Amino acid sequence: MTDQFDRASDIEQAQRSAAIAAARKPVPRATPAPSGNCPWCDDPAPVGSTFCGAECAKDWQDNYAPRQRAAQITGQQIRN
Ligand SMILES: [Zn+2]
Repeated sequence: MTDQFDRASDIEQAQRSAAIAAARKPVPRATPAPSGNCPWCDDPAPVGSTFCGAECAKDWQDNYAPRQRAAQITGQQIRN
C-alpha cells in the first residue's frame, strides 16, 4: 500500500516540476528586434528603434498583438 502512495507522490512531483518548468520557459519576444527598417512600412527606423514612428508601432501592435496572444495561449508561434 505504501508503494502506491510513494508512486503517487513521485508522479505528483514530476507533474509539478514539469508544470513549473513550462511556466518558466521564456516567452518569445512579442515585438521584433530593431533591424534598421520599420517592420510595418519598411521605411528606415531610427537606430535602436524597431519602428519608424509611433503610428507604425500602434498599427503593428493592433494587427499582431491579438495573434501573438492567441499563439502564446495555444503554444504555437507566428511569424512577424
Ligand atoms: Zn513605419
